[in-house]
Amino acid sequence: RVVVGTKVDQNHVNWVTAYNMLTGIRFTVSRTNAKMDRELTDADFDAKHKFSFDITGNELTPSAKYDFKFKDYAPWVFRHLRTTFKLDPADYLVSLTSKYILSELGSPGKSGSFFYFSRDYKYIIKTIHHAEHKFLRKILKDYYNHVQDNPNTLLSQFYGLHRVKIPYGRKIHFVVMNNLFPPHRDIHRTFDLKGSTIGRDFREEELEKNPRATLKDLNWLRRDLHLELGPTKKDAFIEQMRKDVKLMQKLHIMDYSMLIGIHDLEKGNEENLREKTLKVFQPGGEAAEEPQPNQLMRTPSKLETARKARELRQSVKTQKPVPMEQTSARMPDELEDSKKHFYFYSDDGGFQATHEDDRPGEEIYYLGIIDCLTHYSLIKRMEHFFKGLANTESQISAIPPERYGDRFIKFITGVTKTKEAAEREKAESALD
Ligand code: ATP
Ligand code: CA
Ligand code: CA
Repeated sequence: RVVVGTKVDQNHVNWVTAYNMLTGIRFTVSRTNAKMDRELTDADFDAKHKFSFDITGNELTPSAKYDFKFKDYAPWVFRHLRTTFKLDPADYLVSLTSKYILSELGSPGKSGSFFYFSRDYKYIIKTIHHAEHKFLRKILKDYYNHVQDNPNTLLSQFYGLHRVKIPYGRKIHFVVMNNLFPPHRDIHRTFDLKGSTIGRDFREEELEKNPRATLKDLNWLRRDLHLELGPTKKDAFIEQMRKDVKLMQKLHIMDYSMLIGIHDLEKGNEENLREKTLKVFQPGGEAAEEPQPNQLMRTPSKLETARKARELRQSVKTQKPVPMEQTSARMPDELEDSKKHFYFYSDDGGFQATHEDDRPGEEIYYLGIIDCLTHYSLIKRMEHFFKGLANTESQISAIPPERYGDRFIKFITGVTKTKEAAEREKAESALD
């Protein structure tokens, strides 16, 4: 229990916050799921419900470990969205409310958002800025309609929008969304592409220290990489991207990116164990011990991670029991999933490369358009103004949504070609 007035370590706050988030989700999602399904009304898009949790509980809410307030937004809309995205209601609850939650994603992004993975790695909770929250509520109907018309959308799949607040704490808004990356496959390289070049370079020297880092546009170009899709898949992919981008242009959204995780089928899963031993985080549950502030949400040092990975690998080889802390982070080997219904997630949870004759290729892409709640508003206009003084407009990332989208489409389309086509083009340009 948080004692008001005591200085609470920041790590500790995260732990309590995560516990409160999960408790709130469990309560509000079960509450909505318990009712008979019905058609949506306009009012459903504006709906919000506030709940108070405390250690004693009351006629409405069960008792919880901490005092906090929880707000649930548009529960019926998100229930329908979860259905559209073919989530199993019971499964969703189990994933998000089991005793443990796995948390990672290195240091939070520039935006200050925090990311939490569900224990089974299927869902991501992202804390969002109040402006993003307001904006999502505003565009919810457009998003909902788009998803109904485009169940194969590449846009982030939103499953819930909530807010949590502890006494005297600030309001924390968050969304639950799909994790694009699979629990059961190594991602050998990750790229976050915007179609811009300014500042879109991850320092290659850093890659040694952090081999899993997310690379950017310039790193992609430097490697002369392509999204290797044969004609059938390329057409479908580009067409869907165009539709998704069109929606974002209409809604004046920008700053989104195409997140691409590449699984190299030849390399396979050798390194898988390592990634799965990172951090385990226990927000409550009977067996969980009270948090020790300094142990929570702490990023293990490189040495620790390497040591644990070694231990785990050893213990697998020698059949020694795996320490508890690590077992709890073991990932499923198979993808059981609803994902196969969706074109871009149907090859082992992703989208497998193809050759010119549509024969399957050597890589699986786990991809989608992320970070799509930034409205072209004040902040971006300011960035445009400041950066615009030094750089030519075509290169900066904060250009107006219309052009941002066009540039995005142009870039992604430009790098989508088969190995064969890329080689041919290279040979041709050598002749010129
Ligand atoms: P910024 O505004 O500075 O770009 P942000 O806090 O809004 O940062 P995002 O751009 O949404 O963060 O995501 C940051 C990183 O988190 C991505 O580059 C990617 O590595 C990871 N990530 C985000 N969303 C997902 C997702 N749905 N699936 C898998 N990984 C994700
Ligand atoms: Ca981003
Ligand atoms: Ca962002």
